[in-house]
Amino acid sequence: MKQPLVIANWKMNMTLSETEDFVRRFAQEDVGSSGVEMVICAPFVALSLLATLLRQSSLLLGAQNMHWEKEGAFTGEISPLMLREIGVRYVIAGHSERRIHFGETDGQAGKKVAAAFAFGLTPILCVGENDEERRAGKTEKVIQRQLLGAVSALDQDEQQRRLIVAYEPVWAIGTGMPADAGDAAVVITFIRALLHEKWGERAVDARILYGGSVNPENITAFTGSQGIDGALVGNSSLKPGSYAAMVRAVAAERRG
Ligand code: PEP
Repeated sequence: MKQPLVIANWKMNMTLSETEDFVRRFAQEDVGSSGVEMVICAPFVALSLLATLLRQSSLLLGAQNMHWEKEGAFTGEISPLMLREIGVRYVIAGHSERRIHFGETDGQAGKKVAAAFAFGLTPILCVGENDEERRAGKTEKVIQRQLLGAVSALDQDEQQRRLIVAYEPVWAIGTGMPADAGDAAVVITFIRALLHEKWGERAVDARILYGGSVNPENITAFTGSQGIDGALVGNSSLKPGSYAAMVRAVAAERRG
């Protein structure tokens, strides 16, 4: 059975003192050996601090973005080499907020996914349709374009097995209006089928998450649905109590 994942995306939130406070308070939460993989994707400036603070913790470290080149004249960018040096293990690629506000393309997301693997990081590729596309019945078409546009260069077994995909319908992110869990499961089955068509049985191991207004009350509706391996969570991951409650809920649901 695959290990479920609850990934926190802090976005552009959390100062250094708030970060310290989060880690201190999270350590007092009883998540025990939950069996849930817990990842915090923090702003760049908090990563070094978190790497130190998390040495005794079961929380793992992720970044929210990166450039695909190792180094060079890319003012304002951060490279996979820099992330790896700090101790970052995961990195998000193609988040809808980067696509919408910063023009990130499928091709760029693909370069980030490939670079992440090349530097020993695990990429979390985000895909998802916006409201207009959903209403026009284009969800599958959009997902197919985003997914295949970003994973085409992955030709090694290990990469195909380790890939994490997050299905995040844009209209559900930060709106308090999550997708219906059954509908999300249908799209996730579609994503799995696309990967299976490309990679065969190796696609079974890739983990596919749901993201979009997940909270402690609704998380198990998603993680309890066939084929959904965890959640990518924004707002509800900012408070240690809420993040821990989601981890406990998923652990309890998996125990049955
Ligand atoms: C996200 O940032 O990827 C996200 C899903 O945010 P929220 O949980 O706030 O909808």
